[in-house]
Amino acid sequence: MTATRPAVPSQRTGGDPPRPPSLTAFIPCFNEEGQVDEVHATIDAALSGYPDLEILFVDDGSTDGTLDKVKALSARDPRVRYVSFSRNFGLEAAHGAGFRYARGTWVVQLDADLQSPPAEAPKLIAKALEGYDVVYGIRRERHDPLFRRLGSAVQQRLAQRLFGVDLVYGSSVFRVVRGSVARRAVDLRLATPYFVATMPLLGARWATVDVAHRQRQDGGSRWAVWRLFAHSAELFFGFSLRPLVWVYAAVTLAVLVVLAAGAAVAAGAGGALAGALAGEVVLLGAVGVLAAYVHRLVRGSVRPALFYVREANIPIAPEDSLYADAPAVREPAR
Ligand code: UDP
Ligand code: MG
Repeated sequence: MTATRPAVPSQRTGGDPPRPPSLTAFIPCFNEEGQVDEVHATIDAALSGYPDLEILFVDDGSTDGTLDKVKALSARDPRVRYVSFSRNFGLEAAHGAGFRYARGTWVVQLDADLQSPPAEAPKLIAKALEGYDVVYGIRRERHDPLFRRLGSAVQQRLAQRLFGVDLVYGSSVFRVVRGSVARRAVDLRLATPYFVATMPLLGARWATVDVAHRQRQDGGSRWAVWRLFAHSAELFFGFSLRPLVWVYAAVTLAVLVVLAAGAAVAAGAGGALAGALAGEVVLLGAVGVLAAYVHRLVRGSVRPALFYVREANIPIAPEDSLYADAPAVREPAR
């Protein structure tokens, strides 16, 4: 953990763009041996002008030569660091590791296929330095298959409108995040981390910037289709309690229907049927009680601390600060 940094606004000299004190570019990799060297060269070309640059590879359990390639790079470039998983844990886990182990004051998230061009990152960084905690790249022209583009649009709209999840529509994983806030998100240790939905829970200040997007050069997406669906389910059920409210409503309705049917049967004297209906009522009641407990459980698992303090003129307990590395910041370091 880095020591508390004083709140020093970035120094601007002449017309130079503002520079963050330190920057981590992190790249999740799953079977990307053909890309590692090019990624490194491209990041070097685009971002080596930033002071104290760290290039952090997160190897998400690759089974090809990805890790060997990264190790070879780290032997000749001291800026290269890596974290390698024991197996493929999936993209959100890779993001989690990237955010937890990034040393930089600011973290930019890239991808090994260079669909999000590192040359676009300075735009996001400059925006972040205006005073945001997270800046999302918006791909105005997204070069992915139609089902992916449609799928993302439907997923994000459903999440917002039907499930009531707070997220930035159109946001992509190409983003720049204040390192200390990113670690806060990871520290939640959510069973289903979903960064885009976690940031609003913390009250992070966000902005968007339009970015270019390229076709994947090397093979297809590393996402298995089932994982895309599982990922959506995580967003819908991990960050919304609305489905449980629907369950309550459905159970209540069913109980009323069964009671009405029971009354009708009793009036016409159908003993066995009335007994069966009474059993149904008990069963539905049990489902309702179960739903109430699941509700409490889920609510506990996704809720962050009661509040986070952004600024104060009195000392603030570390666990109440939005900034994981600067407990009593008056103005966030930029
Ligand atoms: N990736 C990963 N773990 C996975 C799947 C993907 O670390 O389980 C990495 C992948 O190597 C790439 C980035 O995440 O660097 C984005 O993956 P991909 O390009 O396949 O996603 P898409 O662009 O299709 O959304
Ligand atoms: Mg890609």
